[in-house]
Amino acid sequence: MTTQDTLATLATGLLDGSIKVIDCTAPLGPDTPLLKLPDEIADQTPPIEIHKISEYGDRGPWWAWNWLKLGEHSGTHYDAPHHWITGKDFPDGSVDTIDPQNFVAPANVLDFSKEAAEDPGFLLTVEHIKAWEAEHGEIKEGEWVLFRTDWDKFNTDEDAFLNDKGEGPVTPGPTAEAIIYLMEEKKALGWGSQCIGTDAGAAGGFEIPFPAHNLLHKHNKYGLASLANLDKLPPKGAVFVTAPLKIVKGTGSPIRALALVAG
Ligand code: MN
Repeated sequence: MTTQDTLATLATGLLDGSIKVIDCTAPLGPDTPLLKLPDEIADQTPPIEIHKISEYGDRGPWWAWNWLKLGEHSGTHYDAPHHWITGKDFPDGSVDTIDPQNFVAPANVLDFSKEAAEDPGFLLTVEHIKAWEAEHGEIKEGEWVLFRTDWDKFNTDEDAFLNDKGEGPVTPGPTAEAIIYLMEEKKALGWGSQCIGTDAGAAGGFEIPFPAHNLLHKHNKYGLASLANLDKLPPKGAVFVTAPLKIVKGTGSPIRALALVAG
């Protein structure tokens, strides 16, 4: 089969529904949960606002449109290398300079939803990843690694989503060693989480603080946060489409995360 045939088969599959498009995006609006950082160390990302310009009325008789106020790292979103100090110097490290070939890639979906339900602070280790690969097949260079925790079930309830009961957020994430393995040995494209960010809630206190941010972006790789509907994807075989807005020198962007799966 030629490459042109492959593309034609994809197009036919999209039209006849044998290839399904799964929406892995949470709703983006004023109720979207947002990251909270300690006030003493950081400014906050602002609440999302959607303002009406006009809706078929005096200020625009035939049209409706809104303007938005939102941080780059709001809702289901993309982390570019420039988001972190370890990735600040890559010339292709902001959302407007990343090679768009990286916005469409195969996805490995690592299901640890049971573990996260039992332990909301669950940390994924290298051993967990290797056991998953032994069962489902190797993670290959250039592929996404998506950490399924089913945390999206909380994304309409900010308190449950952030899960901070006064002693800091308790949400699942990767160990530093897991990210080092994915970057250095597997050469993965990046790491995606269903929580508010790519790191575990407790990651600020790790030996390497915020290892997903620190190490992904140090390798000029990418993060995805607040992903939804990973329970609808196979462990392997989905193609993930994750295009950030082309914000000039942007460090990240809300995305519409889409997965192509065999229907
Ligand atoms: Mn982010």
